[in-house]
Amino acid sequence: AHLDRMAEVEPKIKAFLHVDRETTLEQARAVDARLKAGEQLGPLAGVPIAHKDIFATRDMPTTAASKILEGWRPPYDATVTARLRAAGLVILGKTNLDEFAMGSSTENSAFHPTHNPWDLTRVPGGSSGGSSAAVAAYEAPLSTGTDTGGSIRQPASVTGIVGMKPTYGGSSRYGLIAFASSLDTPGPFARNVLDAALLHEVFSGHDPMDSTSIDAPVPSVVEAAKNADVAGLRIGVVKEFAGDGYQPGVLARYHEAVQLLESLGAKVVEVSCPSFTTALPAYYLIAPSEASSNLARFDAMRYGLRVGDDGTHSAEEVMALTRAAGFGPEVKRRIMLGTYALSSGYYDAYYGQAQKVRTVISREFEAAYQQVDVLVSPTTPTTAFAIGERTDDPMAMYLADLCTIPSNLAGNAAMSVPVGLADEDDLPVGLQIMAPVLADDRCYRVGAAVE
Ligand code: GLN
Repeated sequence: AHLDRMAEVEPKIKAFLHVDRETTLEQARAVDARLKAGEQLGPLAGVPIAHKDIFATRDMPTTAASKILEGWRPPYDATVTARLRAAGLVILGKTNLDEFAMGSSTENSAFHPTHNPWDLTRVPGGSSGGSSAAVAAYEAPLSTGTDTGGSIRQPASVTGIVGMKPTYGGSSRYGLIAFASSLDTPGPFARNVLDAALLHEVFSGHDPMDSTSIDAPVPSVVEAAKNADVAGLRIGVVKEFAGDGYQPGVLARYHEAVQLLESLGAKVVEVSCPSFTTALPAYYLIAPSEASSNLARFDAMRYGLRVGDDGTHSAEEVMALTRAAGFGPEVKRRIMLGTYALSSGYYDAYYGQAQKVRTVISREFEAAYQQVDVLVSPTTPTTAFAIGERTDDPMAMYLADLCTIPSNLAGNAAMSVPVGLADEDDLPVGLQIMAPVLADDRCYRVGAAVE
């Protein structure tokens, strides 16, 4: 049924980079055989899923939406992929994204943009915009994403679905093509909070293949999603994330959601986190710095594309020609910015300063969580913007992540849950729910109460 739905709507939505009906049906038959053989597979056995094309899959291409990886087939599965398969989920295909997950609209894909199912002239958010659009368009009931600076929560918000960034280290980065290693976090998309929780539990948990994976029990998020009781819970409204620059319709739905929580017995207090407004510039130094180092591996020798290998160019020239042809403009901008920020003489002023800001933000979270159990804000200042509207203005594009980035810098858990449509454009609005490290269950509990 989902393959048929994809055949019907994909020409308009373009959520996928790779679909192969036969591989999908083969997986489904294999799951069926395992179930018939009496294997205990858990609640998601046989459920189809759309998988972000940044996770290594041994039976499907893995491109990170970059020309430099076009046609590459990894010899192994990412841990997230392997855990989906082990639980019997059936992969429908690989979804579109901003190249190497750098962007907020999926327009930086080297292949094509993806369209928001609510309004085809709008973006589905990014970088995991193929995954958000696939679920919002009923092409898949579930999908995977990665959140480095908001790339699960922001696309979930603008397509009206649930998206969760687990605690950093709570889900494995092994086999995830690296963007900014200290921030990258795999997480689930679903149309409701309980479905997201079921998927969260399938792929979370310690992985010895990832050195930053947390060796602690996974918070029981499924239990939390079933227990939507917020009576007595202390909820902090982040003062800095409202007001100028926020769309009135976004603020209206946000304030209603807060009132709803209050009417359900939560204690709502205003909390000030003054440094959160400096998270964005700090992130845009830290993330590109890590990216400039991670992307050095695309050297024309190891993977995919190779340009100028005709006997007339040196290895160094082949490397330069390949990177010039294989990386898109946003990726090049990040590599240059990161290389500059890390260079001797500038390191202390830029990268070092940004790391200090990161520490201050973590401390403000810690102070806030002395007073409250969760923090809330709008997920993103506006609803989905028009395709093309921000492509010439990287700074305007970066603003989409204003509210999401602090939780990445601190490594905390954070969710976006739909809270209705904005009056001025009838487009979805998301509520962001932030919780301390390893308190992912609180996001699910509050999310289930407001959905
Ligand atoms: N939009 C942000 C960026 O461009 C975040 C991306 C992400 O979370 N992968 O870096």
